[in-house]
Amino acid sequence: MEAVAREVAPAADEVDPAELERWSDALRGPSVAEALASAAQRWPDIRFGTGFGPEGCLLVDVIARHRLPIDIFTLDTGLLFPETYALWERLQDRYGVVIRPVRPALTVPRQAARFGENLWDRDPDRCCAIRKVEPLRGALSGAQAWVTSIRRDQTRDRATARLAEWDERFSLVKVNPLAHLSSAEVWDYLRAHDVPVSPLHAEGYPSIGCMPCTTPVAAGEAARAGRWRGREKTECGLHSRPRPAVVLALARPAEGGDVHAG
Ligand code: SF4
Repeated sequence: MEAVAREVAPAADEVDPAELERWSDALRGPSVAEALASAAQRWPDIRFGTGFGPEGCLLVDVIARHRLPIDIFTLDTGLLFPETYALWERLQDRYGVVIRPVRPALTVPRQAARFGENLWDRDPDRCCAIRKVEPLRGALSGAQAWVTSIRRDQTRDRATARLAEWDERFSLVKVNPLAHLSSAEVWDYLRAHDVPVSPLHAEGYPSIGCMPCTTPVAAGEAARAGRWRGREKTECGLHSRPRPAVVLALARPAEGGDVHAG
């Protein structure tokens, strides 16, 4: 960490892969907290978008526990479970942090008036574009980097995620400090630190999104099998890969070697 000197970071559109790669070597850290601290030092305008899944709750804990200067926001689609809104408040109270709401331009009723009722049933990609992708684009506007809670084994699109990479969709650095961890490792951390999580996980919802597009999973099903059930869709579009990304490792490259998040 000492090797990472503070310098003026270039605007997001000026970051080139070779420069990023050099920084990636310098930013190797033994823990998620140190990796995030290094990333925040290198890219001071760094923002974390959480959807309050187990991984997101872990990162809220790490950011708050280590007082990292990382802005935290959530995409409030207006269609979240009541339990998710309650968890949002609980995390803010527990850690004394503000988790900013980022909302779509259209309320749910206005979306219905313009595109018809229950757009998520007829055109979930358009619904996600309106309620998640475009709001995220606004939330990341002007930022140098964003932090996500994705892990490689969650979906096909996430399988090649590196701990730091160039996000072509939103044109900034994307830091995925949990990319290499397993679900079991995440839950070990959550239990060890008594981190608040959604009560829905205990009711068969390992992955939780908007209410209309989330169902419980049966024993033996993949964790995200309950998201957009019955459709090919597996992503909102926030982490889809439009084309091969320039990928660069932030922390140690060994798979599964960095379990310590705190
Ligand atoms: Fe719409 Fe469903 Fe996407 Fe939420 S998850 S924005 S309800 S399509």
